[in-house]
Amino acid sequence: MAALERIAAAARAAGAQVLEGEPMRLHTSFKIGGPAELFITAASAASAAGIAGLCEREELPFLAIGNGSNLLVSDAGVKGVILRLAGDPSGIALQGTELICSAGVQLSAACGAAHDGSLTGLEFAYGIPGTVGGAVFMNAGAYGGEMKDIVVRAEHIGRQSAGAFEGPDLCFGYRRSAYTGSGLIITKVRFRLRRGDAGAIESRMRLLLQRRREKQPLDYPSAGSVFKRPEGRYAGALIEGCGLKGASEGAAMVSEKHAGFIINTGGATCADVRKLIERIQNEVLRQTGVALECEIRIL
Ligand SMILES: Cc1cc2nc3c(=O)[nH]c(=O)nc-3n(C[C@H](O)[C@H](O)[C@H](O)COP(=O)(O)OP(=O)(O)OC[C@H]3O[C@@H](n4cnc5c(N)ncnc54)[C@H](O)[C@@H]3O)c2cc1C
Repeated sequence: MAALERIAAAARAAGAQVLEGEPMRLHTSFKIGGPAELFITAASAASAAGIAGLCEREELPFLAIGNGSNLLVSDAGVKGVILRLAGDPSGIALQGTELICSAGVQLSAACGAAHDGSLTGLEFAYGIPGTVGGAVFMNAGAYGGEMKDIVVRAEHIGRQSAGAFEGPDLCFGYRRSAYTGSGLIITKVRFRLRRGDAGAIESRMRLLLQRRREKQPLDYPSAGSVFKRPEGRYAGALIEGCGLKGASEGAAMVSEKHAGFIINTGGATCADVRKLIERIQNEVLRQTGVALECEIRIL
């Protein structure tokens, strides 16, 4: 039996859902990406740990993902195992002013739980279409808030054993954390919030969602802002200033609504998006001297 088959059989025996040759376009907000050799959804952290351990023993590459809302996946697909933690809503608990979530929980569900518990501090994340694990990995942020302001502890599974990072060991920076490039799988996150007024929390979440709808091209598949914000500038404004709104390669296009977004207008490939990214980077560098760096993760 080949390594992939052994892992698939063990994962199924442990109750995980296993899909072979699963198109990644079905699991990314860009709707782009070729097949993953194995796409496994683990029901629990224990099951994910078992699968990750097996991949290491078999020397097969594996990658944890959340909603795929910050990913651009190759048209040729992904070798090895893509591991997703199930987003069970029962993986949310409140302890005083702390909110504890399994990594696969949707940010929207975490925000809903904070609201229901009259806890404030997480509203900024409402409308970011990721999971709690993906948001911590990326130190996701919006409207003046970032994960780093509220995450006090994250648990993970690693090469040999489980562990956790707390406080400064989380090493949050702009769209990065201690998890970036670590190979660790985040399993649980503890947020420290503050007592607030449920009505005010709800109003803030609604307002921020409305702003997103007004400013972002939410009718098209995308991965959000493609580029990191350059020091003291905005990527979208630089791109627009260089006359690139509406520029396209194949079916990938710089959004007319928000030039920081590349949208998939229908059947775009990873190659289309990469060509467009390169064109934007070259043109912005030529016209403004600013080197734009990708925020989206390219697999
Ligand atoms: C319309 C739109 C709007 C957006 N707005 C914002 C915004 O305002 N602010 C912002 O910061 N981002 C935004 N994003 C980008 C994206 O939603 C965030 O980066 C989000 O946090 C990614 O979460 P995810 O679960 O989808 O992660 P994925 O895209 O699945 O993964 C992102 C990275 O995290 C890693 N990862 C995911 N889960 C785990 C885990 N459990 N353990 C270890 N590693 C893991 C993956 O390997 C990958 O490297 C937006 C995207 C879209 C499409």
